[in-house]
Amino acid sequence: MEKVLDYPCSCGGKLKQSFCQVEFFGIDFGVKKCEVCTKCGSEFLDDQTMECIESEVKKKKLFGLEKEIQIVKSGNSLALRIPPEIVHYSELNVKYKARIFPSGKKRIEVELI
Ligand SMILES: [Zn+2]
Repeated sequence: MEKVLDYPCSCGGKLKQSFCQVEFFGIDFGVKKCEVCTKCGSEFLDDQTMECIESEVKKKKLFGLEKEIQIVKSGNSLALRIPPEIVHYSELNVKYKARIFPSGKKRIEVELI
């Protein structure tokens, strides 16, 4: 089935629907639908696939910030130390206020306000 494409290849070639193995930033996204230039062989992913990849990459990067931390006693409270990587990522400083709430028995969320 032929489809009219609004972004033909810059080499002037025609694009054909195909499938390709997609890998970005060392993350394997598996085989995705793509369009391949019949002249130069360039592969083009559609917007939907690109969006999906972008959000996946973002997620993986956020998970990369995950750290195991120690819970320390601080008076009657317990204190969690926020690792520098997360401080840096969230651009956190002592001027911030935060809202803390349990979102499950084993999960506490901290929202910066
Ligand atoms: Zn081309």
